[in-house]
Amino acid sequence: MNHLTRACGGVLICLFLAACGPGAPPPADTPRNVIFLLGDGMGYAQVKAYRMYADDPSTELVDPLAMDGYQVGSVSTDSIRLDCAQKDESGCIRDPYGFTDSASSATAYATGQDTVVGRLSMSPSGEAITTIFEVARTQGKSTGLVATSELTHASPAAFCSHVADREQASDIADQYFDNQWNGEPMVDVLLGGGLDDMRRDDRDLVSEFREAGYEVALNRAELYETQGGHLLGLFAPAGLPRAWDRGDDVPSLAEMTEKALHALDRNPQGFFLLVEGSEVDWASHDNSVVGVVSEMEDFVAAIRVVLDFARHKGDTLVVITADHETGGMSLGRDDIYRWNPRPLRGVKHTPKWIIPAFLAGDVPLSSVVAKSVPFELTEAEKSQLEAAGRNETAARLAVTALFDRRTFTGWSTPGHTGVDVPLYVYGPGSERFHGVMQNEALGRTLWDVFLPSH
Ligand SMILES: [Zn+2]
Repeated sequence: MNHLTRACGGVLICLFLAACGPGAPPPADTPRNVIFLLGDGMGYAQVKAYRMYADDPSTELVDPLAMDGYQVGSVSTDSIRLDCAQKDESGCIRDPYGFTDSASSATAYATGQDTVVGRLSMSPSGEAITTIFEVARTQGKSTGLVATSELTHASPAAFCSHVADREQASDIADQYFDNQWNGEPMVDVLLGGGLDDMRRDDRDLVSEFREAGYEVALNRAELYETQGGHLLGLFAPAGLPRAWDRGDDVPSLAEMTEKALHALDRNPQGFFLLVEGSEVDWASHDNSVVGVVSEMEDFVAAIRVVLDFARHKGDTLVVITADHETGGMSLGRDDIYRWNPRPLRGVKHTPKWIIPAFLAGDVPLSSVVAKSVPFELTEAEKSQLEAAGRNETAARLAVTALFDRRTFTGWSTPGHTGVDVPLYVYGPGSERFHGVMQNEALGRTLWDVFLPSH
């Protein structure tokens, strides 16, 4: 595989022009476009919780989700977790049973190679690894990143930047502009959160993108005014609010996806688009079933937009999966053999909104919660909420526990787990994806199907 090298000034220069030419005509099942959708932290429980929540209760059976008919297998999301005596990684032993983070898992998808946890498209020895996104661009295709997190967050960043540590947000933002091909940034469409990473005291990338011909949108109305093929949309200082907590000025993931497809589809050579439902992971880290359902609703709506597009075009490969599961979420707990979505239907806000609203005011937590939920709180629930006092963590835990008890949801960790995640594929080349795939094998297959001449 080819590599990118970093020239002085932080500008990445491709060394693989000759090797990446169009060459022989592509096989008949080569898709023109690839849309890769990642539900960050989305395991089977997160999917099933949303399926049960979204179900029409007037029908006898639980209704399938848009992607359910396209499930072809699952993904084992392992990366290189090192057991190191030294910080410099000398004498490290690879832990074969360690689980991944978003950075190394997205690297596996973007490059087809395993790397160390925390790294973004950079090898264990520190070399930049070329991504499918970059090669697609050198072959004349367009590229896009859409996410509900800040755009410099690990999953989108793995496709278009190369850093040793996922926390290097400013470096990642710089590389979105400096990682260029033919004198233009590699990425044509950037839609998501993270204005603070792009507009900083030391560098204003928003102006740089604007001067380079990108249309810039900083709210939902401005996004709807855009018309061109080069877009930069930043709708929050960091990650977007959870879907159920957003105001009218923040677009949904589906709306951003629709805009990205419209922009990218202008290129007859095709495109590669990453769409991430980023905050399924964050809600799962919070062990918040309300947050999970809010973010799954946002993600599945984007999936519907993508599948409608792909069915209409007939030349677009759609791959939907996760980078890992988060939270060890379980449906059913305490020896109860059912899960109950009803208390979630009609909830107005997630705990991510409820807790700051409570802390900013002077009314009891139970009153703030009562205004956001469609059910009457019991006296026992009210006193459990009041027992948290005005402590932020205790208040958050009390609210999430209330929903866990009502819905029979369990959690085993505030972190990631190693369970396999679902894999759904639609479109030309889809038969190449099946069984339990390692995350880097999925990345290689994606590469082989989309860029057979690489
Ligand atoms: Zn996570």
